Amino acid sequence: MDESLLNGAFQELHSAQRVLVISHIRPDGDAVGSLLGLGLSLQALNKEVQFVLSDGIPVIFRHLPGSDQVRKQANGNFDKIVVVDCSDLKRTGDALTNQPVPDINLDHHPTNTEFAKYNLVDVKAVATAEILAEYLPKFGFPVSSQVANALLFGMITDTLGFRTFNMTPKALELAAKLMEAGGNLPGLYQRGLLNKTFKAARYWGAGLSNLEREGRIIWASLTLEDRRIVKYPGRDDADLINFLSTIEDTDIVIMFVEQGNGIVKVSWRSQPAYDVSLVAMHYDGGGHSAAAGASIKGDLKDIQANVIAQTKTMLGMM
Ligand code: 5GP
Ligand code: MN
Repeated sequence: MDESLLNGAFQELHSAQRVLVISHIRPDGDAVGSLLGLGLSLQALNKEVQFVLSDGIPVIFRHLPGSDQVRKQANGNFDKIVVVDCSDLKRTGDALTNQPVPDINLDHHPTNTEFAKYNLVDVKAVATAEILAEYLPKFGFPVSSQVANALLFGMITDTLGFRTFNMTPKALELAAKLMEAGGNLPGLYQRGLLNKTFKAARYWGAGLSNLEREGRIIWASLTLEDRRIVKYPGRDDADLINFLSTIEDTDIVIMFVEQGNGIVKVSWRSQPAYDVSLVAMHYDGGGHSAAAGASIKGDLKDIQANVIAQTKTMLGMM
């Protein structure tokens, strides 16, 4: 990344007193880990920090230090607004209403739309938390054991335990430094990737029971009714897609999750030969080559048929 841009952004953060840190709707481990890691480091420098997620903090992340400080709406005036792990401004939800254009956009998505004054986008970073793990200490921001745990959680979850194809030696080295600073790798791995609630397991059952295949594409859906029956509290797929990605002889996995309000959340996962972010962008979404998503308005069955056909066409799988 451009050194002068980095310098400028981090110097501005040093001189700020009131900072708003925000990330994306349906937050994942990297969104939450980056938000908390940066915010707690700023608090250690006696800055006033507001932590904002427009969907609030999901129950599964409430073990992380600082998670009790997360609110749903930004309130007040800030010297600096920092958006983390968010490829476009729409993904912040409605939490930034009445706030000016963000100052710093810190992200690792190739589909980032560069919406801030300082756009610090490193597409080689395996997680936004990796960028923070590298630059917080370099620019004199403290990495306490709480900060280390938050950032390590972001790295572990976005790489599915350091096993995604974008993994690098640098990411492992930075993760090792976070462990040295007090990051509890086995504990975070267990909580972030292995533990499942009983409700989530039953919700998986609903998705698995309608799993379909056509050639090397497989897909499954989760309806509002599935969620209601098992009382699953989230609007996500409970990470079912990452399990489906382990099924043999499969290049593309697609997951459809009904959201209410006529919206269906679509997620894609792919083997390295296919860039599913192209398909997600066709539907006004985004993400990475191997993992992408979009929110599409319409009926679940229509969207399923349309997305499967579009995925095959765009990726040359006809
Ligand atoms: P997931 O499908 O698991 O929610 O997300 C996979 C990847 O795609 C993540 O990097 C996530 O940030 C990105 N992503 C998911 N949904 C959207 C979306 O609606 N818009 C954009 N720009 N990116 C998305
Ligand atoms: Mn991320």
